[in-house]
Amino acid sequence: MIRISQILKDKGDRVVTIGPDATIAEVVDVLQRERIGAIVVMQEKEGLVGIISERDVAHGLAEHGAELLAKRVADLMTREVVTCTPESTVQEIMKEMTVRRFRHLPVVKDGALLGVISIGDVVKNRLEELETETTMLQEYITGRV
Ligand code: AMP
Repeated sequence: MIRISQILKDKGDRVVTIGPDATIAEVVDVLQRERIGAIVVMQEKEGLVGIISERDVAHGLAEHGAELLAKRVADLMTREVVTCTPESTVQEIMKEMTVRRFRHLPVVKDGALLGVISIGDVVKNRLEELETETTMLQEYITGRV
């Protein structure tokens, strides 16, 4: 069973964050520059206060039109952030992402933000795992061990 700590070791622990008072124009800029789909919202005293993803921006655009760009992160972000821990397993977070229909999970331990896992990281890990399994089975069947 692969744990999230292993994925973080491979991909690194860099987390892109933004403040709740930043504008959506800044969000769009960061999403594009960093080539990511979601940004963790951090406030100095409170720490993790939300998450804002490209879906929030798309929905915001439908609702507010061009005025969206001047709105604040706090107006659009999701405040109830679901997180996982380094000990969570890939299976557990796959289920969480599927049931809750989102693609990003901040990794938190003892109040510290240790990384973000995206659905892309999960798919990459699952594919690698399945490829290894297939190779092992083929070698077993053909006797080429
Ligand atoms: P996503 O699929 O990550 O683009 O996000 C879809 C929706 O779920 C957006 O409204 C996000 O703000 C929200 N969201 C994304 N990740 C989380 C999370 N870990 N906890 C709570 N809401 C989230």
